Amino acid sequence: MIGVFFDTITYGNGDSTVLEIIEYIKGEKNIEDIHNIIYFDKNKNTLKVNKRDNGLKISDWPVPSFSGIDKKLFLSPELVLPIQSSVSCYWGKCKFCVASRDRKYQTKTAEQIISEIEILIKKYNTKYFYFWDNAISPTFLKVFSDLLLKRKIKIIYSIYARFEKEFDTELLKKLRKSGCIKINWGIDSVSKRMISFIDKGIELDNVKKILKKSKKANISNTVSIILGYPTETYDDLNENKHFFIKEKNNIDVVLIAPEVLFLEGSIFTKDIEKYQSLILTNLSERIKIADEIKHYYESKSEYCNFIAAHNLLYEDYYSKPYNKIKLKIYSIMMKNQFVFRLFINMYKKKFNNGLL
Ligand code: SF4
Repeated sequence: MIGVFFDTITYGNGDSTVLEIIEYIKGEKNIEDIHNIIYFDKNKNTLKVNKRDNGLKISDWPVPSFSGIDKKLFLSPELVLPIQSSVSCYWGKCKFCVASRDRKYQTKTAEQIISEIEILIKKYNTKYFYFWDNAISPTFLKVFSDLLLKRKIKIIYSIYARFEKEFDTELLKKLRKSGCIKINWGIDSVSKRMISFIDKGIELDNVKKILKKSKKANISNTVSIILGYPTETYDDLNENKHFFIKEKNNIDVVLIAPEVLFLEGSIFTKDIEKYQSLILTNLSERIKIADEIKHYYESKSEYCNFIAAHNLLYEDYYSKPYNKIKLKIYSIMMKNQFVFRLFINMYKKKFNNGLL
């Protein structure tokens, strides 16, 4: 396919690759000097894999650009922009995770992110942002929310976070005041044994306290879990179920993956045969438990899914009846293949007519 449908494949961290490809197109660089690409060498009739590069420092990343994207083609009533303040993960130890595979943890400063947000608000006329960092640290959030409030910047945003004890009432209230309406918490299991086995590094007692405080601060809590870890038993799975039934007043949405993905570069894949042989539960049973848990969260789960932008909007719209209807229509569109295809065809037509 390389050389027929596309010219290069980028692997690893491709942020400097894009710049190098532009230099190559301009005739300022040789193809063999572009980092992180795979391409077809016509002269030698073979595939070439170029040298790997670890990418730019996050502090050198430019403000993201969404120019050229037609807002009307988004299956969303509002433009919700992604923003990123860090790469990798400051914890980086969970056995199934690949967040820290390619880079060390780095962050932009809160000041830098605030300036980016100010530029994006002006340029795209939106107030919705979702941070898609793997996990934002409470230390960053303290400074960031202070700055938002001090500069009176009005945005609505969501974050991904770990259950750290630093998420106390004061911080959670401040986050809400600064526009954070939703936190996506990664807990991954509530069985103490599994938390220790996967090296999650959190205290279950803190989890309950934080969820309660966050809810009290009027922040919506989404919690995600994975079922089917090596050594996990049916008792462990049921611990999850009991936890989510008990905590349902403090949790708004549960996202459940019924299977562990053995991704290249995770601790699990270093000894994949051993870990896979330790899976003790079967998928259909796990799906059944997942459905039982979801049953307690039905009213919200019809809108929510793994798409962070959609979930953020949902939270803002949920309390407003007119907007809620609008969101429902978009949810149906997202789930309905027929309507989805209509959108894709519309997109293709525009593309063919040279409108994009
Ligand atoms: S699962 Fe989350 S907390 Fe654990 S290493 Fe990955 S990103 Fe970090």
